[in-house]
This record gives sequence, structure tokens and C-alpha cells, in this order.
Amino acid sequence: MKKVIVFSQLDEDILQRLQAQYEVVMINPKQGDVNEQIREQVKNADAMIGAGRLLNQSNLAPAEQLKIISSVSVGYDNYDLAFLNQKKIWLSNTPHVLTETTADLAFTLLMSAARKVPDLDQWTKQGQWKRTASEAQFGQDIFGKTLGIIGLGHIGAAVARRGFYGFNMNVLYHNRTEKLAAAQPLNAQYCGLDELLQQSDFVVVAVDLNAESQALIGQREFEQMQTHAVFVNIARGSVVDEQALIEALKSNQIFAAGLDVYAKEPLQSSELFDLNNVVTLPHIGSATAETRKKMAELAYVNLVDALEGRTPAYLVNPFNS
Ligand code: NAP
Repeated sequence: MKKVIVFSQLDEDILQRLQAQYEVVMINPKQGDVNEQIREQVKNADAMIGAGRLLNQSNLAPAEQLKIISSVSVGYDNYDLAFLNQKKIWLSNTPHVLTETTADLAFTLLMSAARKVPDLDQWTKQGQWKRTASEAQFGQDIFGKTLGIIGLGHIGAAVARRGFYGFNMNVLYHNRTEKLAAAQPLNAQYCGLDELLQQSDFVVVAVDLNAESQALIGQREFEQMQTHAVFVNIARGSVVDEQALIEALKSNQIFAAGLDVYAKEPLQSSELFDLNNVVTLPHIGSATAETRKKMAELAYVNLVDALEGRTPAYLVNPFNS
């Protein structure tokens, strides 16, 4: 019987389906060092499924017959692709099914930060609403403003659609290559990073993490932005120099930020927690019951396809096995 390692929490139905077909081993952080467990179990495993764990030579080296790692995520920066290619291990992911949900969350962050929602929620609950709200409680207009998308991919375009159709926003975008098909229906203008930062009222980062997007936004970039600008990151924490962002928020270089991702996760302590012009969420871009189910189902199909001799539809490294 083929062996499958489940390396993070998994949808219960999918787990049961896997258990009915294969020998399933769960990695459990309560049972000691996770990497030790992976190293031990991976020796004779055929597949792995999960998310949110660094998988590389240090924990996968003992693998002898591993065919696929099925990631329950669209981002794949947790996996050492060069090592997987060298070992001829497929990596699959779950694009598309999470696009709209993650874009919803990006817009939630944009609006919450612009209108100081969490801060004013606390203000109200703490009984500070003694007279009508005044300047200290005022936020930024959203309707009709300029929305800059860094990374007009699937999620970036879905955020841009919300801005264009829902809020009559003027859309700018920056990518390494122009995206005419996605941009044209939104009348989105392709521009350089500096131009986007200087002209946007709202900046949303939606790139994948790669060698070129690592630390893409730092002190110099925050200095380009307008003082009323709102910055949103739903991509990956390492795309942004977090300390530079903290300084920009502290000095009111920018108006506010909305963050779903951080350099180190889970974020347990940070200077960000002391700032009232940042909205901090715990990496929940795709975290709705429906979307997480769809992601688990897609990851399951990818895994079963690989184990049953078919080529999975969503391979990150589509070499012939
Ligand atoms: P995608 O369709 O591949 O879009 C990524 C876009 O980023 C591409 O259009 C790419 O275009 C652009 N890009 C990459 N490097 C860039 C750079 N240095 N400068 C400018 N643009 C760059 O991926 P997606 O499905 O939209 O997902 C994007 C990312 O969001 C994922 O990789 C993941 O890390 C993150 N994500 C987060 C959550 C969450 O829970 N917060 C949920 C889902 C996804 P070019 O290659 O032409 O530059």
C-alpha cells in the first residue's frame, strides 16, 4: 500500500478519503521535533500533503520513492524547488480556487486600514465615543481614488476588479512583464515601481515570493509613497522590509497599512502591535470554510493523480516522471 505523509492539519473528509486508499501517517508537533518525524517517515513515503512547513534537503534527504508533495496553497516559497527537481519529486499547488477569497481579504484590509476600523471599534467599545467623531477619527476616501497593484497576477487582478468595478478606482500596476489581457478590461496602466508608488493612494502587494520580489519594498520605496497612502500586503512577508514599514508607520510617512503576512510567522511579538495605524491579520487570505475545502480537494486530486500514474493538473515543476 502506498504511503502518504500528512504534514499539517487537513480537512477531515479529505483525510478520511486518503485513509481509505493509502497508509496515512500524520506529522504531529505534539509528538516531538517535526523535522525529525519527517526525516524518519519520508524514507519510504510516496506522497506528502499539507501546507505551512519548510521542506528542503534537511528534512527530505532520506526520501527514496517520494513522487509528489501536494501543497494546500498557491504560494510555494516554502519548498526547495531546486532540490525537488534534482530528486525528481513533483510539487503541486492549488491556484484559482482561492483567488477571489484572497482578493476579498485584501480589500477588507484596504478598507479597514483606510477607515481605521479596528482602532475605532476599540474606541467605541472602550466608551471613548463621548461626542461626534472628529479629525483624529477621520479616515481616507476610497471611491474614485488610485489603486496601485504590485503583481497583477490572479489575485492582483481580482483586487483590481474590486477597485475598478466596485469603487470606480483608477488602476495602476507594476509587474516584471506587461499583462495586457488582464489590464485592458480594467483600463489599468502599466508603470514602473516608483511611478506606481508616487501616484497611488492605495498600494496592494500581490506578487509571488521569488529572488526578485524578496525585499522589493523597503525604506526607499516607502519614501516614494504619499503621506495619505495606505499600504496592503497579502503576498508574503519577505517581500517587504518589515522594519522599514514600521518606521514609515511610526513617522507617518504613510497613513496606514493592512497586513496578512509577515517575515516570521506566526507573529508572536512585534513593534507592529504597538501601532494603531496598522491592521494585523494572522495569514488568513484563503481562510474561509468553503475555500479551504476547495483547496484541500484540489490538493487531494493532485496527489491521487500522481500516485495513480496520471500527471496532476497543477504542477509547479512539470517535468515528465
Ligand atoms: P500569480 O498569478 O502567479 O501572480 C503573481 C504575480 O506577481 C505575477 O503576475 C508576476 O508577474 C508578479 N511578480 C512576480 N515577481 C514580481 C516582481 N519582482 N515585481 C513585480 N511583479 C512580480 O499568483 P497569485 O495566485 O496571484 O498569488 C500571488 C501570491 O499571493 C502567491 O504566490 C502567495 O505567495 C500569495 N498568497 C497569499 C495568500 C494569503 O493567505 N495571504 C493567499 C494566496 C496567495 P511577472 O512574473 O510578470 O512579474
